[in-house]
Amino acid sequence: MITRAECESLDDKDPLRAFRDEFRLPPGVVYLLGNSLGALPKRTPERVAHTVETEWGRDLTASWNKAGWWDLPQTTGDRIAPLIGAGPGQVIAGDSTSVNIFKAVSAALPLRPGRRVIVSDLDNFSTDRYVVEGIAKTMGYEVREIGWGEGAPGLDEALGDDVACVLLSHVDYRTGARHDMASVTARVHAAGAIMIWDLCHSAGAMPVDVGEADFAVGCTYKYLNGGPGAPAYLYVAPRHQEVVQNAICGWHGHAAPFAFEPYYRPAAGVRRFATGSPPVLAYAALNASLDIWERVDLERLREKSLALTSLFIELVDELAPASRSGLTLVTPRDPERRGSQVSYRHPEGYPIVRALADRGVIADYREPELVRFGFAALYLRHVDVYDAATALAEVIESEPWRDERYRQRLTVT
Ligand SMILES: *Cc1c(COP(=O)(O)O)cnc(C)c1O
Repeated sequence: MITRAECESLDDKDPLRAFRDEFRLPPGVVYLLGNSLGALPKRTPERVAHTVETEWGRDLTASWNKAGWWDLPQTTGDRIAPLIGAGPGQVIAGDSTSVNIFKAVSAALPLRPGRRVIVSDLDNFSTDRYVVEGIAKTMGYEVREIGWGEGAPGLDEALGDDVACVLLSHVDYRTGARHDMASVTARVHAAGAIMIWDLCHSAGAMPVDVGEADFAVGCTYKYLNGGPGAPAYLYVAPRHQEVVQNAICGWHGHAAPFAFEPYYRPAAGVRRFATGSPPVLAYAALNASLDIWERVDLERLREKSLALTSLFIELVDELAPASRSGLTLVTPRDPERRGSQVSYRHPEGYPIVRALADRGVIADYREPELVRFGFAALYLRHVDVYDAATALAEVIESEPWRDERYRQRLTVT
């Protein structure tokens, strides 16, 4: 088995190692939830303070022009674009992922008139499913569900000439399983439907290429470290931009917002998907993090991410094998089919996560019975992986999780 010293020497050779120093990480903690809330970049507090004190405090409304507040959704979107294989003018930053899913699906449906079915993934993140359900109910569409487990109806069965659009997550938030985006998009297009990707667990974890996709959405508070509730983003393929309608057409997406015309005329390009006043302070934090992302080689990031997740799987195989520990790996062993997280099923998953937290290893719990470990390769080291795996083995072995206090469910698990 690999030793801790060997992990240290891998860290010394890591071409991305300098990035760790750009983040504030609490001492004595192995933070494995960069897939939930990314760590704080050291540069962020100063950037937010500048926006508060100078742009707001001193310049007041002049900042809409002078500090570029008005254009933040587009300028920030243009900085996110290279992380998902998109170009300038194709991405707009704003709102939450949920709202962007609503905007994308409701804009996609009229592109396929006469087709009344939205394909939704049973395993998708709750909000993706709920938004689709809400659109179907209020706008009169039918939802057709697919799944990826044994016996579940698959994508190809679901695709027919009545399907208007398909919404899928590139990487599954529970298992970390990853789709081949290009081939799924091609299958959906072959059936004449619109493809919408959710990139919440991909952007900032690996190179992503929206390719031929019609729409894509994602958040920036996970791997992209934009801060709690940071603006999400929406990609709209250039071929659709001049024909699609934003269902939440607000004044920020109007062609001439300061004409205050009585009727809506959409702005050119992706700007029509803007709606209302942007949360400027949140954009400041996100842009501080994007300063870091500009310098990241995403291919190297993916290599390191796979090295870390593979190392974790190997260590847990050795230290806490399924036969002894009751831990069942639900993440694909094939690195190609994996995102940047590793999840195990365990009947005592919740108290195990709580006991790990008391040992400085921060993971989380997702129904059903899943313990999730996220690996943000920008700031995690091989030694962190080693320490997390040994802590997990120790918790399984000596069973501190049996303590009653670990069973109390907190509001956020
Ligand atoms: C995190 C996540 C979301 C979050 O949606 P918000 O509206 O930003 O809270 C949505 N979809 C997926 C797949 C996610 O992983």
